[in-house]
Amino acid sequence: LDAPLYADLAGDAEVSFEFFPPRTEKMEETLWSAIQTLAPLGPRFVSVTYGAGGSTRERTHATVERIARETDIPPAAHLTCVDASKAEIEEIARAYWDAGVKHIVALRGDPPVEGTKFTPHPEGYQGAADLVAGLRKIAPFEISVAAYPEGHPEAVSPEADIDNLKRKLDAGATRAITQFFFSPEAYFRFRDRAAAAGISAPIVPGILPVSNVAQTRKFAAMCGAAIPDWMDRLFEGLDDHPAARQLVAATVAAELCRRLYAGGVRQFHFYTLNRAELSFAICHLLGKRVKKAGALEKAA
Ligand code: FAD
Repeated sequence: LDAPLYADLAGDAEVSFEFFPPRTEKMEETLWSAIQTLAPLGPRFVSVTYGAGGSTRERTHATVERIARETDIPPAAHLTCVDASKAEIEEIARAYWDAGVKHIVALRGDPPVEGTKFTPHPEGYQGAADLVAGLRKIAPFEISVAAYPEGHPEAVSPEADIDNLKRKLDAGATRAITQFFFSPEAYFRFRDRAAAAGISAPIVPGILPVSNVAQTRKFAAMCGAAIPDWMDRLFEGLDDHPAARQLVAATVAAELCRRLYAGGVRQFHFYTLNRAELSFAICHLLGKRVKKAGALEKAA
């Protein structure tokens, strides 16, 4: 696909940002400063992840509720089925609803011990589709679910993965957010297969700006994303050049976004890793401009 020149991007892309809950006060400051930088771009929502095995339960709640309390950006809370009964999930979901958190990213989750198999809680949900159906009964949440353009590592086949995505959407989710990927073709093939299976909900690409290939490779191995060989070559020799590394990272991600845009994509979800600058620069290249000052202050 011929990508449009940056000057031709209409600024009509919608963006959302993902954060993880901070572990320390210092990290909380970094996160809050990232939110402050990105908020004026007018994101559709910002989401906060839930650590493996529910390990960040309290911190995820605290972060999401602070966003709900102190900003006017709609917050989304990630929630998984791991180690939780249906009753516990209901309690968490009701607390979110009451705190003004009306959007859940509903996931099966991975077991707390890496490499082990997911086993549902005896009184819990079997997987994400089951969780979506459960949440729907609790309150009229907006629900997003996960999708895997390069396949989930446990998927029996690409078709089974698409069937599972369809089950999640049919159960009441309104959008899928993808695992990160670096090949626009992989995304387009997946979107075509989803459309052929009758999926009409938006499949929002998850964009990971990479500035540390080794770290990303470690993470990608766990979640079924492929890191192309050219990525290593691209960052070769940049270990001692952090500024150049950032520029290369922004360029690669912006190119990916531009090609997705050319293929009709208008919603982008950024894995920010709690740092604003890369995502801000990529959004800028996508034509996004600061919409409003003071997005952090709730209207009185
Ligand atoms: P599911 O949709 O339940 O599917 C899991 C696997 O089982 C798939 O391979 C699916 O094809 C297969 N499957 C399901 N049902 C059936 C069936 N009936 N028959 C055959 N096969 C079936 N993890 C966290 O712990 N915390 C987070 O905050 C978090 N955020 C994420 C955000 C995004 C956007 C993405 C893409 C992933 C996120 N993850 C998170 C990772 C996610 O929890 C893992 O990838 C997990 O292994 C699968 O979760 P899921 O919701 O996709 O599971």
